[in-house]
Amino acid sequence: MTVGVLALQGSFNEHLTALRRIGEKGVEIRKAEQLEAVDALIIPGGESTTMAKLAHYHNLFPALREFVKTGKPVWGTCAGLIFLADNAIGQKSGGQELIGGLDCMVHRNFFGSQLQSFEIQLSVPKLAEEEGGPSSFRGVFIRAPAILEVGPEVEVLADCPVPPETRKNMMLIANDQKGIASSDRVIVAVRQGNLLATAFHPELTSDSRWHSFFLKMKKDNGGKILQCTSTSETD
Ligand code: GLN
Repeated sequence: MTVGVLALQGSFNEHLTALRRIGEKGVEIRKAEQLEAVDALIIPGGESTTMAKLAHYHNLFPALREFVKTGKPVWGTCAGLIFLADNAIGQKSGGQELIGGLDCMVHRNFFGSQLQSFEIQLSVPKLAEEEGGPSSFRGVFIRAPAILEVGPEVEVLADCPVPPETRKNMMLIANDQKGIASSDRVIVAVRQGNLLATAFHPELTSDSRWHSFFLKMKKDNGGKILQCTSTSETD
């Protein structure tokens, strides 16, 4: 199995290292035609606006959307999660192009700036069920997004308490976005068919279970074709 890692910007090297650790072949993806040779794709964390500009410049969006529709597994971590979301909010100005396909609304910088980055033990029962080991996982959150709303096909794998200093963000968002309730917890990991998304960075830990879990999705999914319902979003 060959796993492509989108290598425009961000933590693609760390994902390639994590794949090597579990004996999987990872290849860097920078051109649309390179996607034809891979069985699964990881979209790393980084800075989603920059990544979107680079993807646009290299005319990658059509091929990325096609890849999502093939039913092959795609995993977005952090900025990669934003890329996969049908809707993204939380930009100061302008919008950004998204791949879409994941029926959810994300807030790009929900947990705040670089200085508000944090680590926390998350409870992920599904990971323990599928991969063994403890149900806790050390979530590394760097300028992290959060998932505020999910559609009916989306399975929530983990949520996270909203840190006290971020609570007022939640209240402001709830005021702005009709239908979003202010809450003490937000969703940080989901799966929908062939799509996996995490707001945190498993590639920055030595625990490889998310990578193994992702690669098993190929077998589980049975090549289910997903509809991409949205391709871009502005705030
Ligand atoms: N919030 C960042 C963005 O908008 C993502 C941060 C990350 O990938 N670590 O792209």
